[in-house]
Amino acid sequence: MLEDKNPQRTSLEHLGEFGLIDHLTKNFDIKHKSTLTSIGDDAAVLNFKNKHIVVTTDLLVEHVHFDLSYMPLKHLGYKAVIVNLSDVYAMNANATQITVSIAVSNRFPLEALEDLYAGIETAAKLYNIDVVGGDTTSSNKGLIISVTAIGEVEKEDVVLRSGAKPNDLLVVSGDIGAAYMGLQVLEREKEVFKVNPQNQPDLSMYTYIIERQLKPEARKDIVELLKALEVKPTSMIDISDGLSSEIMHLCTKSEVGVELYENKIPLDPQVISTCEEFEIDSTTIALNGGEDYELLMTISQEDYPKIKGNPNLTVIGFITEKDRGMHLITRGEQAIPITAQGWNAMKNEE
Ligand code: ADP
Ligand code: MG
Repeated sequence: MLEDKNPQRTSLEHLGEFGLIDHLTKNFDIKHKSTLTSIGDDAAVLNFKNKHIVVTTDLLVEHVHFDLSYMPLKHLGYKAVIVNLSDVYAMNANATQITVSIAVSNRFPLEALEDLYAGIETAAKLYNIDVVGGDTTSSNKGLIISVTAIGEVEKEDVVLRSGAKPNDLLVVSGDIGAAYMGLQVLEREKEVFKVNPQNQPDLSMYTYIIERQLKPEARKDIVELLKALEVKPTSMIDISDGLSSEIMHLCTKSEVGVELYENKIPLDPQVISTCEEFEIDSTTIALNGGEDYELLMTISQEDYPKIKGNPNLTVIGFITEKDRGMHLITRGEQAIPITAQGWNAMKNEE
């Protein structure tokens, strides 16, 4: 995994802004022909010829979006890139460049920023991305990191949230709920650590869910798989805020309804066992957890034979006319309206 191994503390003041930028970005190489010029001028110059360009940006603020007491900086850098790439892939596009902007206080030594950038570099290598610019400034207290991702897509391949049609199948990649349960375990261990710092927790039974929280991946592979299978989704979105809120986005934008089947929602065994341990309902977690960075899409029924049996893709429901509304069909065959706070809605049913 990604280890932090920078015990030294070099003050940022010794470097100055330009020295710092040079130091942090010296290893970034150029991988794409579309990157004509990169870091070191007033702006990067990109040339995408006839392709459509997608642009997306995310801002991560310390104490709001991440907690450095259990989020190593290297993982934070990695995750800051991943959450943006996920948005690019959700457009059925290929991510090509990012810019990275940081605001840091002098409580961070150079070594901390090296760790942050090591995570960024690892993600850029793995996902074949050029880092083409950014901005560096100071902050009074916390760390702020903003990444902008740029991607390319053939005009006819763009997939929006708005294209779902009645009778389309609702499909999700991978499994969901794990990142949220990983966070629950990390939060619990943080509290235990506060009381007893000598305590060495055994987290071996939570490795998958913790990794999903600390080192999420973006589903570039799913975009490639869909292309290979010759399936163009009718609509698509990435799951950052939980299944129910993303389903609502697709249905609202597409002006359709949905039936989601509780017994089809893909859950990892560690999610199920950790939910039992925490005495929370695993469906509630899948619906409301978030940070899964899986892709949620609708596909035409005609394409079903192409995805049937593929372990990466699960059919979890189907699209209806708008006036049928949005419902979760439970294991007991009850229809429960899907809301942004499905948590409360489901509690009331019990
Ligand atoms: P400007 O004064 O024009 O904003 P900067 O001195 O901020 O220029 O940046 C110089 C170059 O370094 C630019 O190419 C910019 O995109 C890049 N850059 C600045 N900060 C970062 C960063 N944190 N990560 C990557 N590239 C950066
Ligand atoms: Mg600048």
